[in-house]
Amino acid sequence: MIIAVASGKGGTGKTTVAVSLALSLAADPPTQGNSSPLFLDCDVEEPNAALFLNPAIFERREVGLMIPQIDLERCTYCGRCAEVCQYHAIAVVGKKVLVFPELCHGCGSCTLNCGPGAIQEVLHVLGTIERGWAGPLEFAQGTMNVGEPMAVPIIRQLKRWMLAPASDTVHTDRRPVILDASPGTACPVVESMRGVDFVLLVTEPTPFGLHDLRLAVEVARDELGLPVGVVINRDGVGDRGVDEYCAAESIPILMRIPLDRRVAEAYSDGGTLVGTLPEYRERFHSLYGTIGELVVDRKGGRAR
Ligand code: SF4
Ligand code: SF4
Repeated sequence: MIIAVASGKGGTGKTTVAVSLALSLAADPPTQGNSSPLFLDCDVEEPNAALFLNPAIFERREVGLMIPQIDLERCTYCGRCAEVCQYHAIAVVGKKVLVFPELCHGCGSCTLNCGPGAIQEVLHVLGTIERGWAGPLEFAQGTMNVGEPMAVPIIRQLKRWMLAPASDTVHTDRRPVILDASPGTACPVVESMRGVDFVLLVTEPTPFGLHDLRLAVEVARDELGLPVGVVINRDGVGDRGVDEYCAAESIPILMRIPLDRRVAEAYSDGGTLVGTLPEYRERFHSLYGTIGELVVDRKGGRAR
């Protein structure tokens, strides 16, 4: 089962929840066989789960997009490549062909439409993907290079790398996969959520938390059609708006984490929720079990 842990904005405790859920499952795996949980840090613009998990990395790859490179010996400056590029990433100006890598989506249209065959595709590196182990927990993360604008290709390649060959049959994989999504509701989050079984939305009980939760629900449930549940972090600090919204929308509140100074202190020191308050391990196990039941109920399938 693949669970994406997401939030409408940063700073809600998303990574705290994702890390603690993964550590709880790693300490006591819920299924037999190849059940070592996998943690995927898809927050490629600012991956920080490794600070808490301290994984030993054993493999690293550069990833990016294939962008056009022009062979000026063959180019006739016909302008066809610029005409077909939907992203304005290539321009023909007199006897010059300009490629703008930061706009290029690597779609290959220009190459396909270049009659003289003057375009070759070369890798434009956007970032890295890495994998390793944090004790019994398998770990992988993507990191976008500074100044690069596109996170989606890195997330896509990270997921393909770690979830293949199950990528096409990802829902039959019995292994727990905890995926830490980017904050917000833009394209990187959509790419993170694509293909998961459940989206766990972490929020706080404030008007700001409610506003961002609504947006996250619109993406996960309404646009992608995924089942969602909520974790309220810093429970007790704000108002009842999140509770009332969840009740009205029939969204289950699966866990409440009260504001606790010990957790905040541990977090600022690189500690984890379950490391500081081990009694939460059982609660995260129950959370995983409840999510499993919700997924099975929704699909009407057998337990995974
Ligand atoms: S389509 Fe090919 S030949 Fe025409 S301008 Fe572009 S690169 Fe040159
Ligand atoms: S690969 Fe696609 S996006 Fe990039 S320059 Fe060619 S047509 Fe434009």
